[in-house]
Amino acid sequence: MIYLDNAASTQIHETVLNSMLPYLKDQYGNPSSIHRYGRLAHKAIEKARKQIASLINAEPSEILITSGGTESNNTALRGISMKTPLSQIITSSIEHDAILEPCKKLIQDNFDVVFLPVNQFGIIDPLDLQNCISEKTNLVSIMFGNNEIGSIQPIAEIAKICNEHKILFHTDAVQAVGKIPINVKELGIDLLSISSHKLYGPKGIGALYIKKGIDIDPVILGGGQEHGLRSGTENVANIVGFGKACELAQNNLNENMYYVKKLRDILIENILNEIPKTTLNGHPKSRLPNNAHFTFLGVNGEDLIIKLDEYGIAASTGSACSVNTQKASHVLQAMGFSHEQITGSLRLTIGMFNDVKEIEQTVEILKKAVQELRLVSPFKEKYSFVSNN
Ligand SMILES: *Cc1c(COP(=O)(O)O)cnc(C)c1O
Repeated sequence: MIYLDNAASTQIHETVLNSMLPYLKDQYGNPSSIHRYGRLAHKAIEKARKQIASLINAEPSEILITSGGTESNNTALRGISMKTPLSQIITSSIEHDAILEPCKKLIQDNFDVVFLPVNQFGIIDPLDLQNCISEKTNLVSIMFGNNEIGSIQPIAEIAKICNEHKILFHTDAVQAVGKIPINVKELGIDLLSISSHKLYGPKGIGALYIKKGIDIDPVILGGGQEHGLRSGTENVANIVGFGKACELAQNNLNENMYYVKKLRDILIENILNEIPKTTLNGHPKSRLPNNAHFTFLGVNGEDLIIKLDEYGIAASTGSACSVNTQKASHVLQAMGFSHEQITGSLRLTIGMFNDVKEIEQTVEILKKAVQELRLVSPFKEKYSFVSNN
């Protein structure tokens, strides 16, 4: 099997897994306990917090550990909004559901939410943001890199506008952290969401960076863990694994980034050359190093995924979450794509465990799969696929 769905989740790194095992076996103490079992677990968490913080150049005290990207986003949006009743949030129309759904809930609770449009490459215009800011605006939340089409937003510019207006800026950086260099201090980011399983760590663990001095409303109340912001006994093994994954990501960031990007570029070039009536979606340059997203006209993306699975390739149409809800991608809709373009889309996301041989095989298999589907496509005549192939 060739796994090309690394934006949905990644294989856990062997070193990460090994770092977790002691905390699933002998070192089972509660980090809040005073005895040595407790102290050991507590120490392990604080080491992980340092590793997580270091990856984005934050202080360990600025890291709130959560159950993943979804919880981090919810905590940021609700935690900030609840401090200022009836305030306004500005976000984008291409956010992950883990931003869009909590925003919908905030609208029900009488908050005002503005969804900025994007251009055909899936990028917002900072001028639009500037124009939308009002006295009511309390928080701006714009994702770093898009999970479907990979486009990277002009984060430094967005942060600058927010800082000038003294408005808090949150970014869902789940797809970007560990893949490209991110320095929250240099970029001027106030809050940032991370997820462990997108960077070769375990699932069900993540973090929210909250810049020192920013006060948020706690979402989960109880025993007062995580400085009272998120009560509940810590998932020590997962936290340790997440920390190790961040350390590995930081140590090998450039090397992995160039490796993955090289494979990605070979994939894109060969697919565009060898498969007619195919386009690359998302921004050609400002995009995540691991993301390739195509439209194959006349093909149904879901049929293609099933066929690829039969041929031994794991791919995706876009976000895993939209498969559950069976709705057309809101991201591609926001980019102005036609129904046909959306239907024919396929996302291939590369990881550090892929190699060039797999990429070459993928091009061959994809060429065959697209050809087969086009031969039975209702649009066969319209695009004259037969003569083209
Ligand atoms: C995966 C993902 C999330 C959700 O993270 P989980 O840890 O799975 O909850 C949020 N935002 C983006 C952009 C993602 O890709």
